[in-house]
Amino acid sequence: MKSTTERLDALRGGQQPLSHSARTLVGMAANPGCARRALLDACGADKGKIAAHAGFPWPFGQSPFALGRGKAFEALVKEHGGSLLLAQLRQALGLPIEEVAYIALDSVADRIGQQARYRDTCSALWRAATRRPSPATLYDHPMLRLSVGGQYVYLEPDLVAFKVEDLFYVVEIKSFPVIDGRADGIQIAAATKQASTYVIALQDMFTDLNLDPALISTSVFLVTPKGFGNTPVATLIDARKEITMLRRQLQRMDRVADLLDLLPPGLSFDLAVVEDTPTRPPQELAGDLRQIPARYRPGCTAHCELAGLCRDEARTSGSLDLYGAEVTDVLGGVDNAHTALALAEGSQTPSDDQVDVARTLLHAERLRSQLPGRVA
Ligand code: SF4
Repeated sequence: MKSTTERLDALRGGQQPLSHSARTLVGMAANPGCARRALLDACGADKGKIAAHAGFPWPFGQSPFALGRGKAFEALVKEHGGSLLLAQLRQALGLPIEEVAYIALDSVADRIGQQARYRDTCSALWRAATRRPSPATLYDHPMLRLSVGGQYVYLEPDLVAFKVEDLFYVVEIKSFPVIDGRADGIQIAAATKQASTYVIALQDMFTDLNLDPALISTSVFLVTPKGFGNTPVATLIDARKEITMLRRQLQRMDRVADLLDLLPPGLSFDLAVVEDTPTRPPQELAGDLRQIPARYRPGCTAHCELAGLCRDEARTSGSLDLYGAEVTDVLGGVDNAHTALALAEGSQTPSDDQVDVARTLLHAERLRSQLPGRVA
């Protein structure tokens, strides 16, 4: 396996054997201006291991139990050619779909490799889009591709693309429960964003194949268990807002080639693993990470394994980004928590563009000082 240094060199040389989960892409798109994350993702680094070794482990991702439950539910939904899934899709669309073909695209003609699988997916979907009449078909594990930061990345989704009548739908299978018709809003939002990356990848594929991207539905199916059992329920969700937002964020992502120019020579994310044990001095690793510009936001804690390191860095430097847009908007003209505190205490003379904010901060501090039992 290549080290992260070798992968960075490969990126510099224009090679691009990248692979991301849609979850990673959603995380990247959530903070499109962060060069640190973009570079680590671009070279396929294990951010969780790097953060832990640098001294900032961050609890991130699903528990082994949740992962196991997710895989078991997906297998159940797809068994027997997706018969359970099909019954749900038929009901959700209100269509009398009788005959449905099932095509597994992860083992087409035993071909392996992302590019070969991507080409197979293109061929299968092109045939489905151009053949008339074409039966309803479930496509399992298509290989998709997206241009991110000027480079193609491959997506290996656990999804089914479902073609019925002339439209293709993305079907996302998740194991969080729907109880009395309700599910956790945050989990639904995350699943919808994830499915939206597949919609964008399919739209781009169709455009490249000279097919109409409008053949990809902008509504996605979310298939979840009913209650705490294993009975699947399919819900059709309008994802237009998420698709538009993700497209905009993907377009804003800095080009990886430009980011590579920022790196000083010799910078590395390698852990120097010897017999399964990282031997790189943690301070040195953290120092290299800090050489890459980051843009910490409170939302980082939900989508990036490096959040502990970046939050510590933001706190140490007094960055107001730590507190989110509500605070930075209110404190326009003040770029640092140390300055904000000094203005609130009256120990710093405000510049012309800080006068209004300074007055507000002085007033807030006066109110705070009158609170009973306050700690000075
Ligand atoms: S946690 Fe750090 S590296 Fe990750 S997106 Fe946020 S600022 Fe960037």
